[in-house]
Amino acid sequence: DAGIVFDNVHFGYDPDRMILHGLNFTVEPGERIAIVGPSGAGKSTLARLLFRFYDPQAGRILISGADIRTVTQASVRAAIGIVPQDSVLFNDTIGYNIAYGRAAATPAEVTAAAMGAAIDGFIERLPQGYHTQVGERGLKLSGGEKQRVAIARTLLKNPPIILFDEATSALDSRTEQNILTTMRQVAEHRTTLTIAHRLSTIVDADRILVLDQGVLVETGSHAQLLRQA
Ligand code: ADP
Ligand code: ADP
Repeated sequence: DAGIVFDNVHFGYDPDRMILHGLNFTVEPGERIAIVGPSGAGKSTLARLLFRFYDPQAGRILISGADIRTVTQASVRAAIGIVPQDSVLFNDTIGYNIAYGRAAATPAEVTAAAMGAAIDGFIERLPQGYHTQVGERGLKLSGGEKQRVAIARTLLKNPPIILFDEATSALDSRTEQNILTTMRQVAEHRTTLTIAHRLSTIVDADRILVLDQGVLVETGSHAQLLRQA
């Protein structure tokens, strides 16, 4: 497991218009942190900085104690598995889509046999119903099924940090509950960062950070924040 530190992070896409105003927070290894806030608060921007799409104008971001500017971009990206709102899958089998995560983690040489072994090891952990479909091509998957495949792909890559970036925001409420159950299982004993605009989609976080207009305005447990609301 890896920890994350945001140390006085200032960032604006345009230096004359800052978006994040001195963010300070720590995610302990194995901790489940949620970041909530209204649209435009800076949640996606924070995720992009963590992934090093941009560097902050001031401050530092550490993963496992190392300033991410001092390590390779590949190693930063290998450390974080992202499950985005709309997961993009290849028009191929579920098996291929899941194995792609492994391929991306070890770009050098992934043999078909190694990939096959990796998938076989993983199939056991897939929900019922996927076992028979795993080799079928051109599947029509629902939004919820796509998210489940995306989660499986991320798990196979086995990153020390998992980032759920509005992972259930595009789903209807019943599907959302199913995916939240899967996310809860994934998050157990792992460093997870869940980004959402609604408190209801982050039930099991150890700590919730509320971001508003680029500033952390509250920190607390779910119950504490609901009491204040
Ligand atoms: P959230 O994810 O909380 O909705 P964002 O991080 O997307 O918030 O946006 C925060 C602010 O940054 C908004 O004012 C938004 O307009 C601005 N912003 C987001 N992406 C870009 C970009 N690529 N270029 C310029 N401004 C951006
Ligand atoms: P993989 O996760 O399969 O190793 P990559 O290393 O290319 O693939 O990307 C890592 C993760 O970052 C992917 O899950 C992908 O969805 C996500 N990602 C790639 N580009 C963007 C982007 N522009 N904004 C947000 N997430 C992105």
